[in-house]
Amino acid sequence: MHSAAFAQLGLAAEYRAWGVPPEKLRAAVTALRAEHVLGANVTIPHKQAVVPLVDELSAEALAVGAVNTVINRGGVLVGHNTDASGFLHALTDLPLDPDGCDAVVLGAGGAARAVVYALLTAGARSVAVSNRTAGNARRLAAELAAHGRVRVLAPAELPAAVRGADLVVNSTSVGMAGVAEGESPLPAGVLPKRGAVVDLVYRPARTRLLADAAAAGLRVQNGLPMLVWQGAESFSCWTGLEAPADAMLRAAESQLA
Ligand code: NAP
Repeated sequence: MHSAAFAQLGLAAEYRAWGVPPEKLRAAVTALRAEHVLGANVTIPHKQAVVPLVDELSAEALAVGAVNTVINRGGVLVGHNTDASGFLHALTDLPLDPDGCDAVVLGAGGAARAVVYALLTAGARSVAVSNRTAGNARRLAAELAAHGRVRVLAPAELPAAVRGADLVVNSTSVGMAGVAEGESPLPAGVLPKRGAVVDLVYRPARTRLLADAAAAGLRVQNGLPMLVWQGAESFSCWTGLEAPADAMLRAAESQLA
């Protein structure tokens, strides 16, 4: 996706994937200070762990408590978060206006934090979070409280909250290739009565959750639009240029296919 964008704009830059074990994260971040490095993306499981390793945080990264984009400004590393704005941009593709909506967010990791922050700042009427580990959901709600109220759902409260929601977002890894693939993060038979279901997972393109929701006549979106929009904003942060989002989408689609 990023290589296609560099090629489209004729930039002599490369995007490489680094598999970084947790014990090597600090050294990997330090290596980003080199003169020839524009920056990096950060993904599972490092988005929160990288926060104390950068020199500065953008307002979004500070609010979300997670970094998915590092920008190298002359050896000073700025941690930024483009997941929140990428998620909101993808909602406009659906289309769904989050202003005034009742949303249920599944998960409490880095992606869920960005989604909850995005929904609160976009004017959602209510945001409820459900997560396997209740303590992580409570921590998320407490840390994002400055931006609006987040209700933490007990497992028994989940079905009613989902049925009444305008928007359900899966921001857990359940359904992702290699992590509980083929499983839904929702209990059997529990889906919203109306509205839309967004799954941040993009591989596979159609998760069990999205297949169930589409079969029930609900509007669905997988994680590809968000992936492209968060990537387009990262690209602009590194290069100062408008990202060729169409070329990035085509490249991402062809790689995932
Ligand atoms: P993360 O910080 O590691 O959080 C993972 C979340 O999934 C946690 O809430 C965790 O619950 C939950 N979880 C993991 N395995 C589970 C299981 N077997 N059963 C129930 N819950 C489980 O990861 P992340 O960065 O937030 O990413 C989460 C998902 O979003 C991934 O699939 C990722 O690919 C996707 N994502 C997509 C985009 C995009 O642009 N489309 C961007 C970011 C992330 P616990 O708290 O109980 O551990």
